[in-house]
Amino acid sequence: MKVRFWGVRGSTPTPWSEAMQIGGNTSCVQLLTQSDALIILDAGTGLRMLGKALIDGGTHRQRDIHLLLSHTHWDHIQGIPFFGPLNFHDNQMTIYGANKTHKSLEEVIRQQMSPEYFPVSLDDLPAQIHFQALSEERFEVAGLQCESAAFNHPGGVYGFRIQGEGATLVYATDMEYTPESLDPRLIAFAQNADLLIYDAQYTPDELHTKSGWGHSTYLTAAQLAKEAGVKQLALFSHDPEHADSTLREIEAATKKYFPASFLACEGMVLDI
Ligand SMILES: [Zn+2]
Repeated sequence: MKVRFWGVRGSTPTPWSEAMQIGGNTSCVQLLTQSDALIILDAGTGLRMLGKALIDGGTHRQRDIHLLLSHTHWDHIQGIPFFGPLNFHDNQMTIYGANKTHKSLEEVIRQQMSPEYFPVSLDDLPAQIHFQALSEERFEVAGLQCESAAFNHPGGVYGFRIQGEGATLVYATDMEYTPESLDPRLIAFAQNADLLIYDAQYTPDELHTKSGWGHSTYLTAAQLAKEAGVKQLALFSHDPEHADSTLREIEAATKKYFPASFLACEGMVLDI
């Protein structure tokens, strides 16, 4: 299984020269497997670039697309209206995610394309779009074994554990824990993963003023990686205020606690 990062930034895109080395698009990760299915984790603005790459490469027709959403905050859904393959009638996309208490997943996604927010509605898109509501469960996506579990974030978030082709990936972004408050369920969820992608948005200093906003620090990421015994840790959901130089300092600091760690960068492809 291969993993490609199309968007690695948290909160909002950063079209800023000092952030271009690591990348400015918001959360979007693609899984590359032997099947022809397109498997995507989160639909931040990185999704637009994935769609463009498919169209440029001529591989954008008759595709079976699976999009797993950790949650529906802006930085995880804003790429959907700009995902080029949805403009072709012979594509189909299934969107997996949690229903909210008072609103279904479908209503939430429809709402971001209502006339107040966007000129084209979801129904205007030629592709077939289906919704699959998730709870904490095991399910299969294009031959991969997946598990969803809820963790701590304002409004809720799901982590995904995905196994197949001899590898295990754990995608756990937008979660607020400290090294002292790590959820034992999360440690078990990430156990022995070949790659853990984890939220490391804040520095420990920043967490003092941003507590309750739903993100972790690199110290929590390193502690989780260590306790779960993962092979590699990708630091993810970089803060929009952090320039490349700051992020490289965070990476160096993380390596002191967990050497097999690195910054997730836009365009990076990993064979796990
Ligand atoms: Zn969020």
